Amino acid sequence: MPHASAAQRLRAPGDRWDAVVVGAGVFGAWTAWHLLRKGHRVLLLDARGPANACASSGGESRLTRTAYGSDELYTRMAWESLADWKWLSESADLPVFHRLGVLFFFGRMEPYAAGTLEVHRRLGLPIETLDRAGLAQRFPQFLWDGIELGLLEPDFGALMARRAVQTLVQRFTAEGGDYRLAQAAAPDTAAPAGDDSLAELVLAGGERLTASHYVFACGPWLAKLFPEVLGSRLFVTRQEVFFFAAPAGDARFQAGAMPGWVDFNQGDMLYGFPDLEGRGVKIAHDAHGPPMDPDGDDRLPSAEGLARVREYLARRFPGLARQPLDESRVCQYENTSSGDFLIDRHPRWRNVWLVGGGSGHGFKHGPAVGRYAAQLLSGESLAPEPRFGLAAKAQRQQRSVH
Ligand SMILES: Cc1cc2nc3c(=O)[nH]c(=O)nc-3n(C[C@H](O)[C@H](O)[C@H](O)COP(=O)(O)OP(=O)(O)OC[C@H]3O[C@@H](n4cnc5c(N)ncnc54)[C@H](O)[C@@H]3O)c2cc1C
Repeated sequence: MPHASAAQRLRAPGDRWDAVVVGAGVFGAWTAWHLLRKGHRVLLLDARGPANACASSGGESRLTRTAYGSDELYTRMAWESLADWKWLSESADLPVFHRLGVLFFFGRMEPYAAGTLEVHRRLGLPIETLDRAGLAQRFPQFLWDGIELGLLEPDFGALMARRAVQTLVQRFTAEGGDYRLAQAAAPDTAAPAGDDSLAELVLAGGERLTASHYVFACGPWLAKLFPEVLGSRLFVTRQEVFFFAAPAGDARFQAGAMPGWVDFNQGDMLYGFPDLEGRGVKIAHDAHGPPMDPDGDDRLPSAEGLARVREYLARRFPGLARQPLDESRVCQYENTSSGDFLIDRHPRWRNVWLVGGGSGHGFKHGPAVGRYAAQLLSGESLAPEPRFGLAAKAQRQQRSVH
């Protein structure tokens, strides 16, 4: 766990920070990191600890990939972020990134596949096309019925989510950033307007902190902290993840033989990983589940969810069909209406920044999101991306990013 740095121990209460970042998930941790690298004095807070079990970043593994259909924005961000993930992985005791390769597969050529190929060609990014015979030869642990096309990204793979964030927070404190376990209270929107800046941040115990800027990177909790702004613009959904025991002594389901994979099926995505670090073979459905309260709801998976992935296993992975479930997790997506991230100023306070809306695909982009947020906050001249703006967040969901 991160420890208090010398700077924190020496700093008297009441000192002014350049930035306080609330939320040590993947977005907050990378934002704090990039702010620190720009020379800011940064305090990072989390109510339950970096990548805790309730946080969206608190899972075992996350896919990183550049396949995004014709959506060049996220292709570029994922590519740009990969270098940072590799750097973090190389500096860690245990791997943060596993280069497994990521395989998308499709019933036939469809717009998402064609768009992915076009963007990769345009940007000169590596991607391989496989037909059904090629898929069967390379990946015999899958049953390829109904599949005609595979797109393999050889350079991508799995990020070890919890470990990645905790490693980054350790690096942050080692380099002079400060981290504390603390819960920030919601800023008082009813307080007299005064000027257009938030003066201080109040913690749950009543302690007050002052900073030039406040970043709220609170994942699904953003809707609770800012109900007037985000209560109807962030859709928090329950997502179930299942791990099945790999058959003993069978190398087919191990990293190296099996890639990370996505069965795209016109946007109704199932995805999974090989048996990573002995945890079991992961499989999950990407469709949005019912609404979820990240504080109040138990995290037990449903019998229907399990039946659904078992039925899929029988169709696609006969070698796993009878394997026992060895673990499961329930997490939440914090979706915006389109799936585009939210990285923008609070509409009332010019020194308050909202960073979130990972929408089930944010983890891989953590480094790029943090860099962009740090540039915005530092007043660097960059053209703000309209898709990340609050103005682009609607009150009805119409997902366009997959
Ligand atoms: C099951 C699942 C699978 C996913 N798969 C992928 C994938 O394969 N690839 C991918 O790229 N992305 C994936 N994602 C999405 C990705 O994990 C999220 O977009 C990302 O982790 C969101 O990070 P965050 O930092 O915004 O939020 P979080 O990780 O939730 O962090 C928010 C933090 O804020 C803290 N906090 C909240 N309120 C307060 C407060 N008042 N005071 C102090 N601290 C507070 C919380 O404790 C928490 O630690 C997946 C998500 C889930 C749930």
